[in-house]
Amino acid sequence: MTIYNQKQQDLASHIHPDVAMSKWKDWKWQLKQSIKTISSVEEILGITFDEKERKILDQTMEKFPLSITPYYLSLVDPENYKEDPIFKQSFPSPGELLVHRDDMKDPLAEDMDSPTDLVTHRYPDRVLLQISNVCSMYCRHCTRKRRVGDVDFIPGKEAIRKGIDYIRQNEMIRDVLLSGGDPFLLDDSYLDWILTELRAIPHVEVIRIGTRTPVVLPYRITDSLVEMLKKHHPVWINTHFNHPREITSSSKEAVRKLADAGIPLGNQSVLLAGVNDCPRIMKSLVHKLVKNRIRPYYLYQCDLSEGLSHFRTPVGKGIEIMESLLGHTSGFSVPTYVIDAPHGGGKIPVMPNYLISWSTNKVVLRNYEGVITTYKEPDSYEPIFCDRNCDDCRLQLDLNESEEAKSVGIARLLNDYDQTDALTPEDLDRLERRNHE
Ligand SMILES: *Cc1c(COP(=O)(O)O)cnc(C)c1O
Repeated sequence: MTIYNQKQQDLASHIHPDVAMSKWKDWKWQLKQSIKTISSVEEILGITFDEKERKILDQTMEKFPLSITPYYLSLVDPENYKEDPIFKQSFPSPGELLVHRDDMKDPLAEDMDSPTDLVTHRYPDRVLLQISNVCSMYCRHCTRKRRVGDVDFIPGKEAIRKGIDYIRQNEMIRDVLLSGGDPFLLDDSYLDWILTELRAIPHVEVIRIGTRTPVVLPYRITDSLVEMLKKHHPVWINTHFNHPREITSSSKEAVRKLADAGIPLGNQSVLLAGVNDCPRIMKSLVHKLVKNRIRPYYLYQCDLSEGLSHFRTPVGKGIEIMESLLGHTSGFSVPTYVIDAPHGGGKIPVMPNYLISWSTNKVVLRNYEGVITTYKEPDSYEPIFCDRNCDDCRLQLDLNESEEAKSVGIARLLNDYDQTDALTPEDLDRLERRNHE
């Protein structure tokens, strides 16, 4: 079975007449041959930019460089490149030079929530460990755009060991997310070392890897990589498909290998104006994903990073997409739509409203068809008071002390064992006045 098409063959022989297809599926060859100049793109796609366009593109590239794998470029339709979703995700746009008044360099405050190099510790029980500063394709919509164009590097063992030490010393961390850059640009043996070190920590229950290689460099998913990953289960992988056109025979082959190795696969899409801001495109994407055993996980509202304003949609577009999916298709095909809040607030799910009203014993709901319906609540319900002492409770639970995290947020207001009855902003004028009276 050949898993490349005529266009890829043409492209391969164009890039390197003597090697052609024999090397096409070699991921290191793909990396070495990555396209990094406007002229190469012009030459390969058979297109030309006029002098004015060229000047702006050059300016854009000075700020945010370009890098596309031959494979990913081969998916662009040269006849209609300006509207092409693959092209828009990988080729610079003058829009990237516009700094909108709401833009921020590090909107998610990842650098601020970093207790030690390479680690972002935002949520109580899980951390982000950035083990790579290299990507095979520079997504134009990268949320870490501030780092695109930094010198490509893979942190040394010393640096990574420090991150791992932090995880070892913090027993509440049960889930480690390897991210970057792209963790799969590390060699198998280096990745194997990191996974082995993490696995040796008793409280690390799950390891997750975030990678876009199945989309932009599917040949990275080699049999030997998969054999190595299997040794470290449970390993979960999240990838990043944004458009149904990215699901090709090569990417299908890559995710098949991962799924066959028992790795649960998730997908994180970013809602991008002019790329996938359409309910029909999104439905087609999620259907193709589940057919390939990938569970749509998150749909992200585009971040407020500098240079992304041309990609942003109103939140209403995301709600409209969710409305078109929920109820209309399989529950496991529907991602959670999230806004990653500025200043490190984390991911906040947003949904259409289904709860219309509520009385003391009845809720009024609407379904996806527009039917307005009711759910009758029980006439009597005796809640069990929770003092965190399961000995006095009939719903027996055997937790050890370390599994009991501190209660935070609304969950803290709701529980019985904490006396907190309000969450109050720190700098309220009203409270200031009280102090001075
Ligand atoms: C997204 C993210 C996580 C993981 O969040 P989940 O909702 O568990 O997928 C963890 N840490 C940081 C900093 C993140 O941005």
